[in-house]
Amino acid sequence: MHIEEDTKLDFKDVLIRPKRSTLKSRKDVDISREFTFKWSGKKFNGVPIIAANMDGVGTFDMARAFIEDGNGLSVALHKHYPLADLQTFYKENGPDSIWYSIGMVKADEEKLAEFIKAGSKPDKLCIDVANGYSEHFVDFVKGARERYPDLTIMAGNVVTGEMVEQLILAGVDVVKVGIGPGSVCTTRKMTGVGYPQLSAIIECADAAHGLGGLICADGGCTVPGDIAKAFGGGADFVMLGGMLSGHDQSEQEIVEKNGEKFVQFYGMSSDTAMKKHKGGVAEYRASEGKTVRVPYRGDVADTLQDVLGGLRSTCTYVGAVRLKELSKRTTFVRVTQQLNTVFGQG
Ligand code: 5GP
Repeated sequence: MHIEEDTKLDFKDVLIRPKRSTLKSRKDVDISREFTFKWSGKKFNGVPIIAANMDGVGTFDMARAFIEDGNGLSVALHKHYPLADLQTFYKENGPDSIWYSIGMVKADEEKLAEFIKAGSKPDKLCIDVANGYSEHFVDFVKGARERYPDLTIMAGNVVTGEMVEQLILAGVDVVKVGIGPGSVCTTRKMTGVGYPQLSAIIECADAAHGLGGLICADGGCTVPGDIAKAFGGGADFVMLGGMLSGHDQSEQEIVEKNGEKFVQFYGMSSDTAMKKHKGGVAEYRASEGKTVRVPYRGDVADTLQDVLGGLRSTCTYVGAVRLKELSKRTTFVRVTQQLNTVFGQG
């Protein structure tokens, strides 16, 4: 047994210190980023925020809304759309704003192979497993890189630098970082495993950037300030689940109760998801996700305005003309538990 004595941080444990700035208005801030992916060699230009590949979030309607928004945000589609629907969607909307998602299962691999064989051309692939630490996963990623040299590959999830390095060397362009911080995730409760998300981002970004790779901070953002903290900590992309749930674009039923409207939102390994997509919880794994009701929030365009406005404001407070400069200009101040209970998310 070994104990790491360093304190590890979550979003709620810090605030970003304001800095002298020459910026007059948040309109002067550019919150898009330009990247050239290490392995695919393809370029990215846009706001590096990605809708998570979850039911209610990674939907066709969300992707359409992002395309219409025009800021270059992207959507990781959930894994459960039928092949024919995916083909039509890609044909109509092009591949730029979309990550095609697969898990480490044969059926997903075969569907992707068929999708490509039939003439569709995905541009970005998201390989998503709950635990990215297995050798089998590294081999799977290597196989995908060999088979699809031109695809930009995002894969995870992991939370430590050595595993980020191993995945990048195996052919991953963007490593997805986060075990346990998700709003409908119960991994920490069920297994005791996890890592405070802000520290995971800081440490994994450092490891990835040393090799010319990128990271996507996945999970745990509950307010626009958390997204700014993730970018401030060095994240290249930020993935959002809960913050984008409950909208018109969720493709979920809106339920009315006592005059208030709600939408169901659930983890992708929750009982609800397993029953919907797999006909029940598989015996070998406990459900590590929960089901909640979130308030219905209307059109996602309004939420996007809040999210992007918040991020622009953060940049203004620290004098970052471009999002790229945010992490260089970020000094986090630790807040005490008491202070953070009183003011933390205010
Ligand atoms: P959020 O933005 O809601 O805090 O986190 C979204 C992320 O939670 C997703 O991108 C995914 O990594 C993770 N997630 C989604 N469903 C589940 C689940 O059922 N169990 C666990 N452990 N994580 C989940």
